Amino acid sequence: MSSLSQFLKQHQFCISFEYLTTAKPQPVLKTFADFPACMTLADRVQTDHDPAPLDMMSAYPEDVDKILHYSGKGQDIADFEKFLEMARRKDVHNLLLLSGDKLKQHHDGSENPALRSRYLESVNQVVAAKKHGGFYLGVAFNPFKYAEAEHAAQYYKLNKKIQAGADFVITQLGFDLDVLRDYQQHMKQQYPQIPIMACVMPLTFARARFMHKQKVAGIVLTPYMLNFLEHEKRLNPDMAEQNVYARCALQILICRHLGYAGVHLSACHQPTEQAKLQQAIAQYAKLSLSECRALWDQLWQTTSIKGFQPEGVDNYRASGEQILKYKSMHMMHELFFSSKMAKGLGGLVFSSNFWNKPKADQALLSTELMTKQGMVGCESCGQCRLGETLYICPETCPKGLANGPCGGTHLDRCEFEDRECIHSVKARLAKSVGQVNVLKHEIIPTVAIETRQTSSWKNWFNTKS
Ligand code: SF4
Repeated sequence: MSSLSQFLKQHQFCISFEYLTTAKPQPVLKTFADFPACMTLADRVQTDHDPAPLDMMSAYPEDVDKILHYSGKGQDIADFEKFLEMARRKDVHNLLLLSGDKLKQHHDGSENPALRSRYLESVNQVVAAKKHGGFYLGVAFNPFKYAEAEHAAQYYKLNKKIQAGADFVITQLGFDLDVLRDYQQHMKQQYPQIPIMACVMPLTFARARFMHKQKVAGIVLTPYMLNFLEHEKRLNPDMAEQNVYARCALQILICRHLGYAGVHLSACHQPTEQAKLQQAIAQYAKLSLSECRALWDQLWQTTSIKGFQPEGVDNYRASGEQILKYKSMHMMHELFFSSKMAKGLGGLVFSSNFWNKPKADQALLSTELMTKQGMVGCESCGQCRLGETLYICPETCPKGLANGPCGGTHLDRCEFEDRECIHSVKARLAKSVGQVNVLKHEIIPTVAIETRQTSSWKNWFNTKS
């Protein structure tokens, strides 16, 4: 059993320090400010070709417990199965499974669909890792979503991750304490057995500006926060630095008071940074929750609503046209694919060897694509999931995610910025047509590379009849 799982199960507040595989290895602490500590190795943060956490873990002491990140970007299920096997051989216990942010060199497949970048979803990773056995599995969650639909979509997907077998959850980096409080309450009520950790960081103006410029996916930094940090630094750099560590210490202590099982500490791996943070924690360790919160508000000179929530939140309802499309697609699906008669007839037709002849196979594939591409954006994935995605094709998400959104939306807009997130559209539609449970509970299997560019009609009837 890993030490991390013991800390979390025994409600021993703990700290996990994040290290990049591109950085020079630093000494790692086993306790920090009287809390047990461990480390995490992040997967491809700086470039798409950063050294793999599995390869870099030997650069750190063996007796320090590690959480290895696995990001699904650019990965297929077969890659993940190989990774699990290697992780088992290297005696890895803790994994943090992520769908991943946009690849720096993402291919959209417009020139050649076979080259489209694929993202293996965290939900499917949890399913596979659970089957494999022997791991303590963490997943990420972004509670910092302010539009109703993107917020709902995140929580539906979280339910699937937990249903699939996630053992603990780590939040995205964020500074809105009201959101952290509400999320903790939700978890306590819905999944009291699942320990949660919050991602925190000593937020300097330089880091905030960098993340804002780089548009780091899913991190909310409001104009108020950026202006405030800049102004504070300009006024008195020494005091600003002291406040950075004071705020980080307070956020850690507030998370502890709120009932978080620990924190995941980003950008604090240098011994000098750790010493400053440790000192600040010692200074505030005896404060109550309300005292910490009052000091936090004072140090930010604001409250959550004014300072941390983005502007421009707009909540829409599904349009009449979307509802009508859903209803007609649903009717067709029932009639041609789900009914007993359709299954019997389809099974009979498609079990024939005729469809294995290359010409017939190709003709079927082209007919299917022609029928569905204009209607839903089909890309011949070979495993049609429309029935589980309210007839909104997962291939129209640039990452091809079927089980729910990544953490990268901003007010319902996709991380790729060129469209609305399809999972927000689905969440809105689900509410209007009473299908929330589908988004919350239907775990949609991943599509293996070899299934793509085959006819899903043939595959459907050959597996369902
Ligand atoms: S559509 Fe949604 S889930 Fe897909 S990449 Fe964009 S933000 Fe992420």
